[in-house]
Amino acid sequence: MSFSSAPYGRGEEPAAGAAPVPAGATPARRMAVVCCMDARVDPLPALGLKLGDAHVIRNAGAVATDDVLRSLASSRELADTSAVVLLAHSDCRAHGGDDDDARATVRDGIARVRQALPGVEVSGAFYDVGTGSVSAL
Ligand code: ZN
Repeated sequence: MSFSSAPYGRGEEPAAGAAPVPAGATPARRMAVVCCMDARVDPLPALGLKLGDAHVIRNAGAVATDDVLRSLASSRELADTSAVVLLAHSDCRAHGGDDDDARATVRDGIARVRQALPGVEVSGAFYDVGTGSVSAL
């Protein structure tokens, strides 16, 4: 499926169901979320957030890579981001479906982000794709 044939329109008018665009580029809650790219996970509603509340950085497995740290540093620099949540999920293919490995990766990521961004509140959470529940890590 190409962009022009996708069901979400071509930018001429808002796609059906599109949320209103917030007024500013600065996240309203001054936070960033690092989340797996899995199509089953929508991080904002999973964390009780809405469009405009947080920067969202996604990759395979919610891994705190150097590039994620670079983006988080930009988030802090540009938007005075003061909190980061790393969000892993169950049945993650980036972790071979091993939930314990996904959780361990987030815990490692928390330590890595804390070291890279002192003074920023860093936490982790785990989303269950089967139930939609979220628990703290
Ligand atoms: Zn995943």
